[in-house]
Amino acid sequence: MQANSMNTAAVLGAGTMGHGIAHVLAQAGLTTRLFDVAQAALDKGLASVRSNLDKGVEKQKLTVAERDATLARLSTTTDLGAAIRGVDVVIEAVPERLELKTKLFGELGSALGANVLLATNTSSLPITRIAAAAAHPERVVGMHFFNPVHLMKLVEVVKTPSSSADAVRAAVELSVRLGKEPIVVQDAPGFASSRLGIAIGLEAMRMFEAGVASAEDIDKAMVLGYGFPMGPLKLTDLVGLDVRLSIAEHLARELGNRFEPPQVLRDKVAKGELGKKSGRGFYDWKA
Ligand code: NAD
Repeated sequence: MQANSMNTAAVLGAGTMGHGIAHVLAQAGLTTRLFDVAQAALDKGLASVRSNLDKGVEKQKLTVAERDATLARLSTTTDLGAAIRGVDVVIEAVPERLELKTKLFGELGSALGANVLLATNTSSLPITRIAAAAAHPERVVGMHFFNPVHLMKLVEVVKTPSSSADAVRAAVELSVRLGKEPIVVQDAPGFASSRLGIAIGLEAMRMFEAGVASAEDIDKAMVLGYGFPMGPLKLTDLVGLDVRLSIAEHLARELGNRFEPPQVLRDKVAKGELGKKSGRGFYDWKA
């Protein structure tokens, strides 16, 4: 597996993450097929890639010719067989459900040669179990991208006990080819990013709950005192309180009480205060 000689990629799932992953693959020169079970998701994903590339042209980050060449390398399909035919790498970004991912990796593993890199963009599921479902689990790794994919620099390359050194190196090199900064992490709950990010977020919520300071001032402490680009409570509003609650519950089960979700988080989710998407979370977004 050589990232620099990879020519063709398939991305499975065209949602928030999948369309962004397809964007950066196509921009890096790979012929990229974006697959989804829903045609509407493909149309929406492709429209977002177009719009993000247009913004890049406006900001002079890429030329019109580069935008057009990127779009020419990107195609969409609802046919899984057509999407994966002859590919060098598959990156999966379907919904966060273990049974869905294991089923898909089972199908992929038997359909693709042993030297095709298979990566999952899961943010919390055990990749070791996803790999176990595939033929040749040694070529399965995590490639955990961040939203919005075309702007965020980090890729967590997650290795399982069965991942080969070759597959990990190929995923690292591919991340670099995509213009990203990879880190290599063992398949541990929450990897590196979610575990640390949630730990800080939950502590900020406990401080808010105890009346230590307002949400604005807790966030300002981290932005001005520690150089965070955004405070942990505002970030929670953007990610979605429901999403962070389910990650915290998962980490509490796996790693213990220190990840137990604070009552304020449970109460807000029960009231439908899910953050920016619902108009209110720790901040009021309606104004
Ligand atoms: P999403 O709901 O926006 O998109 C998922 C897409 O998968 C949808 O378009 C859906 O139609 C499609 N889909 C459903 N079943 C499918 C199947 N069998 N085959 C192909 N496509 C199918 O989800 P998302 O936010 O893009 O998340 C995708 C993955 O990325 C999840 O594992 C998630 O945990 C992970 N992730 C998400 C974020 C984020 O900020 N949203 C960040 C990092 C990782």
